[in-house]
Amino acid sequence: MDKEELTPKNCETILVSACLLGLPTRYDGKTKRSQEVLDYLQREKLTPIPVCPEQLAGMTTPRDKTFFQSGDGRAVLTGNGEAVSEKGLSMNAIFCRGAKMTLEIAGLSGCRRALLKEGSPSCGVHRVYLGEEKVAGVGVTSALLLNSGIDIISEEDIK
Ligand code: SF4
Repeated sequence: MDKEELTPKNCETILVSACLLGLPTRYDGKTKRSQEVLDYLQREKLTPIPVCPEQLAGMTTPRDKTFFQSGDGRAVLTGNGEAVSEKGLSMNAIFCRGAKMTLEIAGLSGCRRALLKEGSPSCGVHRVYLGEEKVAGVGVTSALLLNSGIDIISEEDIK
């Protein structure tokens, strides 16, 4: 690829879950690198802005696994849902902080869309975990981005 094509001047920017790009940001310290995502960005001439809402919130890596005990990301934003760690601690406040940080980066980098990791309590686009069960819903960051008019897709939408 021509390097020139990837400059922000010539390319639309897009927020991308850092783990999909190959960064070891997941709760278990691993990555979810997706060649399909990298190919998509190249094909569409998009400049990725890597974000990990949970790291941006100040959480460590590795960290405890989090899932919803009630509702999803939309419900957490309105105070009607609960995200908890595997130790049973409420994660609502820290997940909301990560969502706000991510939205701030979207503004700074001119992103109007985002490509996010499916199933995550922060980044899920179509599904999240309610306890052990996969259910329809969005992550906390996804919900805030949607509320702010940013289009979101997951890695499953580009296959
Ligand atoms: S918060 Fe999002 S970017 Fe960070 S590891 Fe989880 S899915 Fe990936």
